[in-house]
Amino acid sequence: MASPEPPASLATEFEMKVLFAASEAQPLIKTGGLADVAGSLPKALGRLGCDVRLILPAYPEALAKCDSLDQIASFPLPGYAEPVRLLEAVSREVSVPLYLVDAPRYFDRPGNPYLGPAGFDWPDNPDRFALFCRAIAAIALDKIDLGWRPRLVHGNDWQTGLVAPLLIDAPQRPATLFTIHNLAYQGLFDRWTFARLDLPRSLWSMQGLEFHEHLSFIKAGIAFSDLITTVSPTYAQEIRTPAFGYGLEGLLQSLGDRLVGLLNGVDYDLWDPATDPALVRHFDRFTFDQRKLNKLALQQEFDLPEDEQALLFGHIGRLVEQKGVDLILDVLPGILDRGGTQMLVLGSGDSELVRRLRTAADRYAGRLAIMIGYDERLAHRIEAGCDAFLMPSRFEPCGLNQMYSQRYGAVPIVRRTGGLADTVIEANEENLSRGRATGFLFDQANAHDLWLAVERAINLWKQRPDIWQQLAINGMAQDFSWQARAKQYLDLYRRAMGAPITNPITAAPSGVQGESSDFVTGFR
Ligand code: ADP
Repeated sequence: MASPEPPASLATEFEMKVLFAASEAQPLIKTGGLADVAGSLPKALGRLGCDVRLILPAYPEALAKCDSLDQIASFPLPGYAEPVRLLEAVSREVSVPLYLVDAPRYFDRPGNPYLGPAGFDWPDNPDRFALFCRAIAAIALDKIDLGWRPRLVHGNDWQTGLVAPLLIDAPQRPATLFTIHNLAYQGLFDRWTFARLDLPRSLWSMQGLEFHEHLSFIKAGIAFSDLITTVSPTYAQEIRTPAFGYGLEGLLQSLGDRLVGLLNGVDYDLWDPATDPALVRHFDRFTFDQRKLNKLALQQEFDLPEDEQALLFGHIGRLVEQKGVDLILDVLPGILDRGGTQMLVLGSGDSELVRRLRTAADRYAGRLAIMIGYDERLAHRIEAGCDAFLMPSRFEPCGLNQMYSQRYGAVPIVRRTGGLADTVIEANEENLSRGRATGFLFDQANAHDLWLAVERAINLWKQRPDIWQQLAINGMAQDFSWQARAKQYLDLYRRAMGAPITNPITAAPSGVQGESSDFVTGFR
């Protein structure tokens, strides 16, 4: 007997073949929020019936986390001496089909996907990620006889920026959607690099990959993709302005409604205090009183006095200027000198910020604990144990930790920017009386404004613990799940498929095309 037809809506989704490309994905390899998204959005799309496949470079860390690896193709790429292998990988922790682009010369390196051991970018990063893009484009056009042709390629950040220009003129090309997770990282290289990468020379144009006489990977993704998204509505507005646009604001403005701001979601399979294996005690908003056991365990773990009454601040993140860690350092004396407060910081990054943190930890021994490094499970314990979470970012495309904090009952104190502005509801009188408030916001990226927000938090903690608890519980009740957002992505995929753009270089009025700076001659 013939098997029953799938429901109509699902059958439609089965037509939705998507190749999701990223340079990192949780739990295989992670440096930041991009990995959280690449690990969880494809899974959410898969649950909606979308045939989505994830593709990553074959870093050793990712290979080691796979249960099986099967070479399914080996193919040459223009500009590269050795053939590239495509591995079909299976990992218990990745629920969608997974491809790894194996080019040992470029990816068989330990540690961070972007940085060498001394903390500087690998000098051949453009070659590494141009290779990744070329492999994605070859797969997207089924040049390697995979027998599977995506209808859309979803690229993420500059490391996948060249995919769209490599596809733009191909007959029957798939649609392209490009997500900007952080415009500050652009993949900007000199024009000699462009020449070395053996890219079609026509792409060296003001309407193309050239950005002030440099090759810009992120501009490539923005200019050549059918649709462009970024990870919050506020950031989508901000990057259209000179203050956040890094010179790309004109291009971003010109996209009109082809640039969409869509908030990231939280993977509640991984981030749920009711089931999280990293916690000493599970809790939810109905058993909030159990939460304190996680706080006491955290204090014990870090040699802080086990004191339920002390207001424990937390911060987790990359120690970089963007995140406002210097502002936290500036307000530390204010926080810790007054007593009844503690602070815990987990992060890695800038050596000067690390030095300042270490000095502060010596000075405030027993009140400030720091952990320099990367520790996923500890991040979960901090979210579940601290009372307030500081995130004074100078800019924040979306930010995940403020959403994790809310889910885990830690009250966020954040700057009103990007996704922070879109996900935290200010604890003012009106929002408090309506039971909506979830945290504290401040406007300017300076220590004074941060301090005023921190002081409000300290006062509320001390004077109205009942309201504090309500704030935390309001946060826990927020729905940041991927489910609704993945549906919005599906809508955007359909929109991109229905409205392919033409090559912006050939589409530009003649005369404008000639304005790019002269190409270097004799570059080979
Ligand atoms: P970004 O992507 O700019 O780094 P996000 O807030 O979007 O910032 O995401 C950061 C992610 O990386 C979160 O999941 C956060 O918990 C995690 N993270 C950052 N630094 C560390 C660290 N040192 N240890 C553990 N997790 C970290």
